[in-house]
This record gives sequence, structure tokens and C-alpha cells, in this order.
Amino acid sequence: MKKKTVSFDYEVVDTIEQLAESDQSLVQAARNAMQKAYAPYSNFLVGAAALLHNGEVISGGNMENAAYPMCICAEGVILSSVESNYPRASIQTIAITAKSNSVKLMEPPSPCGSCRQMICEKENRQQAPIRIILFAEDTEIYILNTIKDILPFSFDGSVL
Ligand SMILES: [Zn+2]
Repeated sequence: MKKKTVSFDYEVVDTIEQLAESDQSLVQAARNAMQKAYAPYSNFLVGAAALLHNGEVISGGNMENAAYPMCICAEGVILSSVESNYPRASIQTIAITAKSNSVKLMEPPSPCGSCRQMICEKENRQQAPIRIILFAEDTEIYILNTIKDILPFSFDGSVL
């Protein structure tokens, strides 16, 4: 039997001011989207913003529903919007933030498993990695190089 290890590198910065200007703008777009999120049940507000290679920024927040399985994550909102409005555009970077009205976040939020899979599909479609910036107020900021780092052994269409 062999043992193998999965590991990856990511950047950590302390403050938003340490980010490049374009990343700071994207972070602000995610924050603004978080303020408009509709999360009356969990009180866990999420905002996401995608910077496309054409310079457009698409943002959105999570959208809950009294029928819980119908809830839509912020990442799903922006990916649907990108595909609907700019189907041939590729995504350069996605910024994701969140806040809870009941718990203080000690670490940046991380996409759920479904959203990791959706971002992975987009990466495969555009044949280029998507940088991901994860942050919350008063937490460090994580910068990932690709969703595949946090979705090892990902499922893709090559087997279909
Ligand atoms: Zn999700």
C-alpha cells in the first residue's frame, strides 16, 4: 500500500489594503452584494463577486427560501448570472465574503461542496484556473489559486 498526500499553497494577507487595487474593488463588490443578501432564516449573509476577463464584475448574494432546499448560494447566483449574460466570458477571480448575525466568524468563509463543484465546472469550461479570495470582517484574507485545491479528486465531464 502506498500513502499519498494532497496539499496546496495559498496566500494569506492581513488587510484588504494589502491587496492589489483590482482585488480591493472586487472585495468591495462582494461586500456590497452581501448587504443585499436575502437570508432571513439563517441570518448568514453571503456575498460573492466575479471579475471577468472582459473587465465586467458580476455580484450577488445568497437567497434563502422558507422551503430550505430551494436556497441558492451567492456563488451559484453569480455563476448563473455569468453564464446567462456572458456565456463566453471567462472568470479571472471570485471574491467571497460572509457575516453571521449570531456568530463572529473567526476564519474566512469557504464555498460549500456544491459551489466548489460549480466553480470547478466553470474552470473546466474556460480551461483556466479561477483565483478565489475568501474574507470576512476582522479575519485574514485567503487567496486560492484554483478551486481544485479545495476540491481534490473532483468529478468532471470527461467520464460522461
Ligand atoms: Zn454553496
